[in-house]
Amino acid sequence: MYLNLAQHLLNCSVCSQEITDVGYLPATVNENEYEPHPQNAVCDVCGFNKIGMVGCAPELTDIVDNKPQKTLLYIRIEDDEISVISEKE
Ligand SMILES: [Zn+2]
Repeated sequence: MYLNLAQHLLNCSVCSQEITDVGYLPATVNENEYEPHPQNAVCDVCGFNKIGMVGCAPELTDIVDNKPQKTLLYIRIEDDEISVISEKE
């Protein structure tokens, strides 16, 4: 599935740090595309320690209101490329 994200800089919505390796990105699923919501991106550390239970990955509803067609992407940023490691609905 294609990730329709023009920007390659994501900042964590909790701690404001730039996400440089892995993080969480909510997205709307639209046909064969993910339409991401970068304003709700969360870094790995905050996802685990501030949003999810300590030591657990966050759920989509921890980050955004649960609306149909939304999914939570676990992403990796490498060389300005964002790849989707997994998704959780
Ligand atoms: Zn953070």
